[in-house]
Amino acid sequence: MSTPLTNGTPESLDVLVVGAGFSGLHQLRLYRKLGYNFRVFEAGSDIGGTWYWNHYPGARVDSPVPVYEFSEESLWKDWTWTEKYPGWQELRSYFRYVDEKLDLKKDITFNTRIASAEWKDSEDRWEVKTDNGLVVHPRFLVLATGALTVPYTPAFKGLERFEGVKHHTARWPEEGVDVKGKRVAVVGTGASGVQVIQEVGPEAAHLTVFQRTPNICLPMRQGKLDVASQTMKKKRGLYNAIYRRRPQTTGGLVHSDFPTEYFSLTAEARILRLEEVWEIGGFVAGSPFPDVLTNQEANDATYGFWRDRVRERLRDPKVQEKLAPTLPPHPFFTRRPSLEQNYYEVFNQHNVELVDLNESPIAEFTAKGIVTGDGQEHEFDVIVLATGFDAVTGAMTNIDVRGMGGKSISEAWKDGVYTNLGMTVSEFPNMFFTYGPQAPTALSNGPSCVEPQSEWIAECIHYMEQNKLTRIEATREAQEAWRDMSLGIQDKTLLGKARGWWNGANIPGKAVETLSFPGGMPFYLQTCKEKAEKGYEGFVLSSKST
Ligand code: NAP
Repeated sequence: MSTPLTNGTPESLDVLVVGAGFSGLHQLRLYRKLGYNFRVFEAGSDIGGTWYWNHYPGARVDSPVPVYEFSEESLWKDWTWTEKYPGWQELRSYFRYVDEKLDLKKDITFNTRIASAEWKDSEDRWEVKTDNGLVVHPRFLVLATGALTVPYTPAFKGLERFEGVKHHTARWPEEGVDVKGKRVAVVGTGASGVQVIQEVGPEAAHLTVFQRTPNICLPMRQGKLDVASQTMKKKRGLYNAIYRRRPQTTGGLVHSDFPTEYFSLTAEARILRLEEVWEIGGFVAGSPFPDVLTNQEANDATYGFWRDRVRERLRDPKVQEKLAPTLPPHPFFTRRPSLEQNYYEVFNQHNVELVDLNESPIAEFTAKGIVTGDGQEHEFDVIVLATGFDAVTGAMTNIDVRGMGGKSISEAWKDGVYTNLGMTVSEFPNMFFTYGPQAPTALSNGPSCVEPQSEWIAECIHYMEQNKLTRIEATREAQEAWRDMSLGIQDKTLLGKARGWWNGANIPGKAVETLSFPGGMPFYLQTCKEKAEKGYEGFVLSSKST
């Protein structure tokens, strides 16, 4: 093997994994088992991915545990949670525990961001350069860079002029910001904004929420968890069933889809079904009927039920209309709902004000605060930018990745995303990615999606090793067919009727199209499996020596 660099990273690697979140860490374990010469590069100074970066007030996961954790028995058997939807601090503790169990950090180089990756055709290797001067030559490059890792801040006029405290949610200082008795602004009401608002509203002297589109939030139904009941469930074999069940369900969240379509139910049965899922809460409340995303009438009825439940919790009729409008801003569940706990009650507080940016958009930031289109200057001590991410593709297009002929991934995807199986790209040989475009990603639970994807990639690399193959590349035909299928499935749904990060519409200039594979986890994973069993159909595999 080649000479180690000063920090112990050998120049020639079998595999370089980028990112130490759920996906990168799962891959780390797989390449360890396979005995490969690999390394994980991580831009942050610790493991955890999303949970390393996001410590804004109220940040918590909105998939329930134990669905949202590693499925490996050696990890879950000794770990217990205190809440059904844990907050970021507990998730950080979980990652510390995982590291203690598996001693992961010795294979990770921290504080190391990939600056560029260039395919070397003559060697069947990548040349990867980092922002701290490392250069490595892996045979395989795996981007486990996450779907929501590149924060997006709109180009607000005068943003830099504000003299108070101002942070994007995804760059919130870990030590926190004291908002007690302060005048706070939150710009944006996506999942991050909703969580901040719930937390900050009761503490701040005054909270101003700048909303453009209301969030169709679902009830979280948070709950405390005790050790005894978790231990009992493990003994009963429930955890094994959960982890086997995860990939068998559309979104990897283990609940089964309700079997009866809206039209086949009586009026009474529809109401009772809506009430039933509302009580269960979580994303179950988002899919009362199997046709809620394909049948406009079922969708409208679900929206109407949701609107009335939310309005019951709001005192001011004007606020009711802003947060839960008579007419839906977009079809129900065609943007990512947030799971809320006390979001709507916060707007009943006297210290909380809602500014509708459709009536009065942000004109500029000033030294003291924000001026809206009506000329009013709102003064703040703290401004929270909950304005989202260049999602799903952003982490990859922000790296200067260049495949055959020197073409960059951002050029290749300028007018739309092309992938094969949501894990590979034609003309980018030996490059794989997880939780990216045209995979279940935004429509699935993270660990449920990235574990099988990582396993597929590791098996593919292992297959190549065993068959002395040095190069794998997706064919153009296969990726065109995959794209057509992904977009074709979306066309049969209402998903195209909304604009947001699910389809890139939140980023100026980004091609607007569905970014996740909308065919569900079981179909996705089955297709990936079949392609592998057919000797990686849709790919060209070759060897330098032949
Ligand atoms: P987001 O859903 O994209 O929300 C961004 C917000 O900023 C939206 O309300 C958007 O308004 C607003 N905004 C953007 N540009 C603006 C502008 N120029 N002027 C005014 N408002 C503007 O981002 P996010 O809230 O960070 O959530 C992203 C995803 O991260 C979530 O959907 C979820 O998947 C994940 N997340 C998960 C959790 C969790 O698991 N608990 C928590 C946080 C985030 P418009 O809607 O009008 O565009």
